[in-house]
Amino acid sequence: MTTQRVPRPQPRFPEPDTEPFWKATKDHKLTYQKCNDCNTVVFYPRRHCTKCGSANLAWHTSKGLGAVYTFSVVVQNRNPSFRDLGAYAVGYVDLDEGFRIMTNVVGVKNPSTDVKCGMRVKVKWEDQPGGEISLPLFEPA
Ligand SMILES: [Zn+2]
Repeated sequence: MTTQRVPRPQPRFPEPDTEPFWKATKDHKLTYQKCNDCNTVVFYPRRHCTKCGSANLAWHTSKGLGAVYTFSVVVQNRNPSFRDLGAYAVGYVDLDEGFRIMTNVVGVKNPSTDVKCGMRVKVKWEDQPGGEISLPLFEPA
């Protein structure tokens, strides 16, 4: 049986704060911001530094390598976008550049036993229908 998967909910543009992040995902670039005044790493994307309030932020590209900070396994999701996934892991990944992202940990046989806190992971892009964005998911490194 073939199933037509319903796309995940997508960001809606214009979205001034996060649009540069999403545009970069199209090229499989995981971007984050860093404050030019106090060097604080800022994520998710914003207009101001979370430490000093400066608007002097610059975009950088992550290597896409990090470690699972924590996760949970969703055993059943009735939302049509996720219904056919089976059990899947939702978690936070700490990137080596110093920011934390909520994501899915994929590429494991059984998310309940194969995902561990602290395990090394790398970004795995999931291109979205329409080709406007790609989602940064993570798999074992
Ligand atoms: Zn700052």
